[in-house]
Amino acid sequence: MAAEPRRKIIAGNWKMNKTVSEALALVRELRGMVSVLRDKVEIVLAPPFVALHPVAKAIEDSNLKLAGQNCHWEALGAFTGEVAAPMLKEVGCAYVILGHSERRQYFGETDETVNKRAQAVLKAGLLPILCVGETLAEREAGRTLEVVERQVKGGLAGFGGAEVARFVLAYEPVWAIGTGRTATTAQAQEVHAAIRSQLVRLYDGGTAEQVRIQYGGSVKPDNAAELLGQKDVDGALVGGASLKAGDFAAIVKAGA
Ligand code: PEP
Repeated sequence: MAAEPRRKIIAGNWKMNKTVSEALALVRELRGMVSVLRDKVEIVLAPPFVALHPVAKAIEDSNLKLAGQNCHWEALGAFTGEVAAPMLKEVGCAYVILGHSERRQYFGETDETVNKRAQAVLKAGLLPILCVGETLAEREAGRTLEVVERQVKGGLAGFGGAEVARFVLAYEPVWAIGTGRTATTAQAQEVHAAIRSQLVRLYDGGTAEQVRIQYGGSVKPDNAAELLGQKDVDGALVGGASLKAGDFAAIVKAGA
């Protein structure tokens, strides 16, 4: 029996943008624009933590889902300023973004801490969106696949195939994030295919076929269709363009 095709997943990472009132205005506009797509494509929004609860209310009975931008690996405790996975679950999240390059670059995130967070995410009944990607220096040194494969292996360490099948991976070349510089479709497809081959080696073909791999890095309405048309590109993780309802809706439609 042929495997189910992977449903595309488009996620908007709002980063540290939008107050609660601004978040609600954006969501109300977006909701109307993408409702016609129903479940043709999975649509996920990752607002700042303080907007999660009000946004959850605003997307009730819609085809929009919610994600946290990060979480701690412990379920509770003396970790001032942190947010735990069960809290994100209760507030209505389905996903949590982990290991974003900004977390790795500015907040000391490592493959090991990303892996611990992923354990907490699955334990809480949430799904991880695990980000990987090389810096410009690493790409120019010809180390792209080595770096990405190390991050994939480290982030997934200790998980079995059934758990890994529930992950979304996001290939985000650091040099393409927020820079307006996008990987070519060939560059994206090459890395996505390499990750899928790695999943076959680490787990098995069935698992590798199920894992969805998003591309992220200056995805815009005018480049989304071409990127999303690549065989191993199963969606997009969108930063800047997710802050405008019209742009994000256009990217979502390109994935439908
Ligand atoms: C991101 O933050 O994950 C991202 C891809 O940002 P941008 O789309 O702005 O490059």
